[in-house]
Amino acid sequence: VTILAIESSCDDTSAAIIRDGKVLSNLIATQKVHEQYGGVVPEMASRAHMQNIVPVVDVALQNAGVKKEEITAVAFTQAPGLIGSLMVGAGFAKAFAQARNLPLIAVHHMQAHVLAHFIEDPKPDFPFLCLTVSGGHTQIVLCKSPLELEVLGETVDDAAGEAFDKTAKMLGLPYPGGPLIDKNAQEGDPLRFKFPVTSMPGFNFSFSGIKTAVLNFLQQQKKTNPNFVEENIKDICASVQYTIITMLMNKLKKAAKELNIKQVGIAGGVSANSGLRKTLQEQGAELGWEVFIPKFEYCTDNAAMIGITAYYKYLDGEFADLSVTPSARASWTHG
Ligand code: ATP
Ligand code: FE
Repeated sequence: VTILAIESSCDDTSAAIIRDGKVLSNLIATQKVHEQYGGVVPEMASRAHMQNIVPVVDVALQNAGVKKEEITAVAFTQAPGLIGSLMVGAGFAKAFAQARNLPLIAVHHMQAHVLAHFIEDPKPDFPFLCLTVSGGHTQIVLCKSPLELEVLGETVDDAAGEAFDKTAKMLGLPYPGGPLIDKNAQEGDPLRFKFPVTSMPGFNFSFSGIKTAVLNFLQQQKKTNPNFVEENIKDICASVQYTIITMLMNKLKKAAKELNIKQVGIAGGVSANSGLRKTLQEQGAELGWEVFIPKFEYCTDNAAMIGITAYYKYLDGEFADLSVTPSARASWTHG
């Protein structure tokens, strides 16, 4: 089976070609227009997807060396995401499938972030525990098989990526600030400033507290030293990052211990964070875990992860009707 997969849930237009579970191409067009606004502007994202989708698919086909006629199934991100963005990808996928009379596969974006682990070797064994940390989500997911995933816990307010981006904004860093916090943190002292490590019941997270704590802290410091941020940016970034990583690792360790699982991985855009990667490797080694981190291009939004999820759904016979519509929010946990 040769799958054309489309991902358009936020501000990246992506198309991938997956043949029998192998990625032949994975093209991602990032929208630059949002930078000047300090966040993604939904209306502009939809418009840019509309402009990008046809050329992105064409180049994905070219890069894979595959002709349109060779495509045997079409997959797209159905949920969750920005509705206007999702509609562009869904509309394209439905039209392509209808025109060529191909089966259509609707994919849940968060399930795909987890299954990014199954794109390349080494792949985790089951049961596998995945911490998905992205711009909109923070979840601990138990994977019993590719299609049997259960969300054990998630954030009750902000996502980890939001915590990075919002504190970055307070520090005057451009959007998205996560990577810049990471960069500054590499030369900073993570223990210089203390922020509260909050914990929610079970396997849930909360990241709104750290945001408020950092805001109050900065306001306080600036009263006596207006240049406080500029002078201490590295230590502030390192300390914020350390606090977020501690909260993430605490819950991941708790889940691994209670479920007695040693196959552990991270997924989503925040898994690009060098501090999180290092901490996971170090603490995982101490705990005897086998640690999995997908390649960077499969951590942030990409169509290859949609394609691999679609491949498993194809094998399972899970197809969508042409009347399927995208949805901004949708739960997906099935145990
Ligand atoms: P979702 O999948 O929840 O819908 P999304 O797809 O928009 O959200 P991703 O693209 O997976 O999110 O991740 C984007 C997030 O990752 C942003 O918040 C960004 O700041 C963060 N991020 C990327 N690189 C790093 C890094 N090195 N350190 C910290 N955060 C990072
Ligand atoms: Fe995502």
